[in-house]
Amino acid sequence: MTATATTAATTEAGDGTRPLTGKAALVTGGSRGIGRAIALRLAADGAAVALTYRNGQDRAEQVVKEIERAGGQAWAVRADCGDAEAVWASVAGTVDRFGRLDILVNNAGVGVIGPFEGISLDDVDRVLGTNVRAPFLAAQAAAAHLTEGGRIISIGSCMAERVAFPGGTLYATSKAALTGLTKTLARELGPRGITANLVHPGPIDTDMNPADGESAAMQAGFTALGAYGRASDVAATVAHLAGDGGRYITGASIAVDGGFAV
Ligand code: NDP
Repeated sequence: MTATATTAATTEAGDGTRPLTGKAALVTGGSRGIGRAIALRLAADGAAVALTYRNGQDRAEQVVKEIERAGGQAWAVRADCGDAEAVWASVAGTVDRFGRLDILVNNAGVGVIGPFEGISLDDVDRVLGTNVRAPFLAAQAAAAHLTEGGRIISIGSCMAERVAFPGGTLYATSKAALTGLTKTLARELGPRGITANLVHPGPIDTDMNPADGESAAMQAGFTALGAYGRASDVAATVAHLAGDGGRYITGASIAVDGGFAV
């Protein structure tokens, strides 16, 4: 589809049953796990969805096919979070493709868990590059295109604010940085009617943290519900923030963690 034709299709107002009809979203790391669930959910709610990946081209294309089979619009683009040019190009590409950008979801993330003193400089650069620098740059690039009603939603972690585990220094540091980014963006962009929020998942069954992994029982045991969550649980909260229900929520950190460490 051409950019022009797509623009026409995405500038109509919401159709009442699909609250994001007419909106365009960019989801980083949308090829699997939580990002995939968010991409599918935003598309089901009517948004045209661009999703980025690093290595998972086949998986990303499957997500696009799934959205298109359901009658939606989607586009997958390789954009390693460590590559600033690629991050900027993914934002520009979304606008070219869909004629607009309304919702940025900073989801892609990596974790390195291990004793503080053993964390290498490469690890520091890779984790902060993916989890902090890329969301910062993507938000900066997106802010140039977002208009009133625009949304920046970042995926943090319960390890940023709610709980501390030995071995989690680098990951927790990176996710805590998103609190500063989100709150300050809420202030800077609020006058333009743009919101910025943070969603903190607890243990969610994905490749990063499988529910049958070594520490899974321990993690589930820390939650009030005594269970892992699903990627779709996080996606439901992102969809709420992205839609009209999120109109008056900004600068917030919302836990989707089954009551982790309450
Ligand atoms: P997964 O490892 O299952 O998926 C990660 C996604 O991010 C993939 O789509 C992957 O793409 C992409 N990605 C990873 N690194 C890069 C990069 N450098 N550039 C571009 N894309 C990249 O993770 P989850 O779905 O579990 O996690 C999603 C987010 O949720 C992360 O920010 C994570 O920190 C956070 N989170 C997850 C929790 C959990 O329990 N699962 C708990 C708390 C927070 P590709 O397929 O190409 O590799």
